[in-house]
Amino acid sequence: MIYTDTRDSSVKTNFRTCVLNGMNKESGGLYIPASFPKLSTEFINRTPEPSFRDIAFEMAKPYVEGEIPDSDLMAIIADAYPFPTRVVPVDPVSYVLELFHGPTCAFKDFGARFMARVMSYFNKSESSPLHILVATSGDTGSAVGSAFHNVPGLDVTILYPEGKISPLQEKQLSTFTGNVRALKVNGTFDDCQKLVKTAFTDDSLRSALRLSSANSINISRLLPQAFYYMYSSLVVRNRSRGDNKIENPDIIMIVPSGNFGNLTSGLIAREMGAPIKGFVAATNTNHTIPDWIATGEYKARPSVETYANAMDVGAPSNYERIQAMYSLDQVRSLFASYWLDNDGIIASVKDCYDKTGYIIDPHGSVGWKAWSDIKNGGMEELKNGKKGDFTKPGLTPNLPDWADSVINKRAVGIILETAHPAKFGATVQQATGRTPTIPERLQKVMELPDRAVPMENDYNLFKDWLLANLQK
Ligand SMILES: *Cc1c(COP(=O)(O)O)cnc(C)c1O
Repeated sequence: MIYTDTRDSSVKTNFRTCVLNGMNKESGGLYIPASFPKLSTEFINRTPEPSFRDIAFEMAKPYVEGEIPDSDLMAIIADAYPFPTRVVPVDPVSYVLELFHGPTCAFKDFGARFMARVMSYFNKSESSPLHILVATSGDTGSAVGSAFHNVPGLDVTILYPEGKISPLQEKQLSTFTGNVRALKVNGTFDDCQKLVKTAFTDDSLRSALRLSSANSINISRLLPQAFYYMYSSLVVRNRSRGDNKIENPDIIMIVPSGNFGNLTSGLIAREMGAPIKGFVAATNTNHTIPDWIATGEYKARPSVETYANAMDVGAPSNYERIQAMYSLDQVRSLFASYWLDNDGIIASVKDCYDKTGYIIDPHGSVGWKAWSDIKNGGMEELKNGKKGDFTKPGLTPNLPDWADSVINKRAVGIILETAHPAKFGATVQQATGRTPTIPERLQKVMELPDRAVPMENDYNLFKDWLLANLQK
């Protein structure tokens, strides 16, 4: 596969370069594959549908062709995904895609675990470790730390703002031993990011230590997220007739979004032949993308804190990839968009529980409410010319191509549940009066001793610490 760049289409590079560099330093752009090869119709139409691992293998293969042999790719996939991906029906036309069965109980495990193994693969021929530096405001750090833990040749240092992440998130970052460690910085998330960015531009540090980043713009985190879109759309297509008598339904993916990496992965799956009719871009009060779809103007802004805090992104970096793949008109025909404020999040967690008995987390609840409104008359209203006020929570006034699928009851929705509700127990308790059961793997982490190392917000102290403590 040839990879190019969102800002400079003359760039032609390989997978290894994209993975190890993260982004193109010369242009400041993001890497994207030059094409999205379709899986064969024979493969896609197989019944029963192929297993998650077989789908992952077939989808990943063209992107690593000539760089990772099939047997190594299969081993990477088997090692990355020892946990299930579940599709749970909650009412006749709604499914929840549970993406929280990985070690950190959030969907980021899918991308981070694949990335870690691919990086390790490309680092095999090197004699010194590759040091990953990552600044986190919460969830990314734990997914990356867990994904890289005990992966040969790689070493991870996580920086987080002391006192500014939840106690559970802190445990999930700070209790690793061996090749993963955390520094609790006396400062803000922005300070952590600045320390990391300064390290990357410090030539004297880089001549002593091999450094890399692991943030969500890396293409090796995006591609594997396409696997579960393909898998779940095939599962739902095959079982829909039995569940709701809709043969070959029009499948709508409802994606709770922040940085829009997850949704971009859905676009990739659709390009590769997944039977997906459309998407719902669902956000919290950080509604930069719904506003763009409504008005045609993209205005990045500072982020606002919400109960769905992993979606608190005011300047979604994958906007750049979506724009490189599609025109605004194409986006408008493919996407409905929706946003929800904090009161709406609480009400939606409760509504989902009252109507279905399913306990959904605050992130997934944004998707639940969006899909509920869409299937309960939202599309008819839009079609009849209702111009909702996009500055208020609700459905953005944009009529996607698939509105008639919903109106004619040919559509089924798959809501991506991006985190386990127990990670947000207090919010879920407030909404439903019930405390979600804590999975054993989270409970275990909460009992481990905290090993975070205190760090002042001072670049020279940080640099000295790295040089004294990291293996060269
Ligand atoms: C990161 C995250 C999101 C947002 O995903 P993006 O790819 O940034 O849009 C949603 N929910 C949870 C639980 C997350 O951790």
